[in-house]
This record gives sequence, C-alpha cells and structure tokens, in this order.
Amino acid sequence: MKLLLHMCCGPCAVYPVSVLQEEGVEFEGMFYNPNIHPKEEFDRRMENVKKLSEIKGFNVTYFDDFKQQFWENFTGPEELRCRMCYDIRLDKAAAFARENGFDAFTTTLLVSPYQKHDLLKELGEKAAARYGIEFYYRDFRPGFREGQNQARELGLYRQKFCGCIVSFRQTPVKKQKASPANNK
Ligand code: SF4
Repeated sequence: MKLLLHMCCGPCAVYPVSVLQEEGVEFEGMFYNPNIHPKEEFDRRMENVKKLSEIKGFNVTYFDDFKQQFWENFTGPEELRCRMCYDIRLDKAAAFARENGFDAFTTTLLVSPYQKHDLLKELGEKAAARYGIEFYYRDFRPGFREGQNQARELGLYRQKFCGCIVSFRQTPVKKQKASPANNK
C-alpha cells in the first residue's frame, strides 16, 4: 500500500510517522492547512514538518495556501466550523492521493485527543468515497503522549492552540506564543 499522510503539524506527526516506518508502510506526507492563523504560526508549523521529515527521512508535499478569512468570516457554531475545516483538508488530501497514484490517505489529526475524532473518521470516509480511494482509518490516539514526548526531545515547536483564528482568540495571550517546551 502506498499511503498519503496528511500532516497537520510536526508534533502530531511524530507518532504516526514512527508507527508507519516501524511497520514498513510506504508513505509520503502532505502539508495542507489553510486554517492556521496567523501567518507566522502557519510558517512555523510548516517549518517543523520540514524539520521532522528531514530527521525521519521521508518526502512531503507542501501547499502554502493561507486562507484565514474563511474561518474569520464563519459565524456558525464550532461543530460546523470544525466540520468545514476538516472537510477542506481531507478533501484536498483525497484528491491529491487519487491524482498522484496513492492507494489510500490518512491524517495525523487522528492522533490528537483534542480533535473531534469520530467526525474526522466520518469525513475521511466520505472524501474517500468521492474520489474512489481508501481512507486509512487508524486510531493513533494511544500514542499521543509518546509522540509529544518525542517531539520535545527532537526540539519541535509544540503549539498551544488548534490553528484557526477563532481558536487563537480563545487562547490566553501568554499561551499563544508557545516555546518548544510547551504542550499543545
Ligand atoms: S478549532 Fe481547529 S479544527 Fe476547529 S475550525 Fe479551528 S483549526 Fe479547525
């Protein structure tokens, strides 16, 4: 199986990447997260995905789309905002996987206990059906702490908020600027 791994950030990718490499799964990464605000945060997360890919030795395709207005202008409830946010990213991953000869796709968002796991699974499967490709569902959450600890040891930046401008504003100012030692 040739797998496309959608990557939301470096720290969340540590555990899924370790597991896939241990199991000998052929995979490549993809960074597509137009939700992340502000631009400095977007750049920092992308840089840390690059850092991880260099340390672990795997390829990543990067998309530098940055569309915070979508999230800023969205006035609906959180559930719908996150649904849109997941759907945009999973749809892009499914399309990219289909166009580029992958057998399946998945996402590092599945490692985080802070994400809406069941919604990710539902939307991943729907995106897979739209493009005629497999969604490789896996509950990576048992490895979340291990991955975060490894991320700290590797010196990766560990952000304190989910990503969009709404989650940024909901986070106390002193926590927004996380250091490598901070937790998500
Ligand atoms: S809270 Fe996270 S998942 Fe929800 S819209 Fe914001 S960035 Fe996306």
